[in-house]
Amino acid sequence: MNPIIPGVYTFTGLIVGRVYLIEDGDGLTIIDASLANAAAKILNQLAQKGYAPQDVKRILITHAHPDHVGGLPALQKATGAAVMALTQEQPYIEGTQPIVKPKPADIRGLPKIMAAAPTTTNEPVPVARALEDGETIAEVMGGLQVLWTPGHSPGHATYWQAEKGVMFCGDVMMRMTGRLTLPFAGFTPDMAENKRSLRRLVELNPQVVCLGHGQPLMNDAAATIRRFAQKVEAM
Ligand SMILES: [Zn+2]
Repeated sequence: MNPIIPGVYTFTGLIVGRVYLIEDGDGLTIIDASLANAAAKILNQLAQKGYAPQDVKRILITHAHPDHVGGLPALQKATGAAVMALTQEQPYIEGTQPIVKPKPADIRGLPKIMAAAPTTTNEPVPVARALEDGETIAEVMGGLQVLWTPGHSPGHATYWQAEKGVMFCGDVMMRMTGRLTLPFAGFTPDMAENKRSLRRLVELNPQVVCLGHGQPLMNDAAATIRRFAQKVEAM
């Protein structure tokens, strides 16, 4: 586990889909759950820090793609934590609807092949608290705001701590190879909407951007994501 800022860490050694840990007085919050095989690694790293599974009180989900909720069934069972996600993402986490994929007519080449890959066969997990855009989760980081940032998925959430300038933005943007990119077209049903979400995040001027893929942006994050958003014509 690597520290990002005091009380916020990222788990290490997960294959794809970054997972974050937040420490608060009443226990722990985890953001996203990576692939199915990640749950054991997450629990191991918690144990190394002296935490029991039951110390995890909440699991916040950015979106219900398999690289972000694959480990959720096992992690929720082991911890008993309350799963939280935006109302718009709830049906995909609870398995009442298949995840939304781009229309084949809208994409070409490799993204088309990616979009044809099977939807998640994840075991459904009940959402204990369905969140609304703009609401604040008071018990996390002294107030963690929920932002509806759709495009990559219909109910994609970004979690934002305004006083600390820390943002957990899921896959609104990615940093797989060190450079910022938009999320893969093959997994993004509405890229225009995703760009509007990106602009909303840029306008918050975050100091730390914790991504769903790649290392967090720690230095000059606001200017970096603004330049990126301009480059991809999101603003
Ligand atoms: Zn992802």
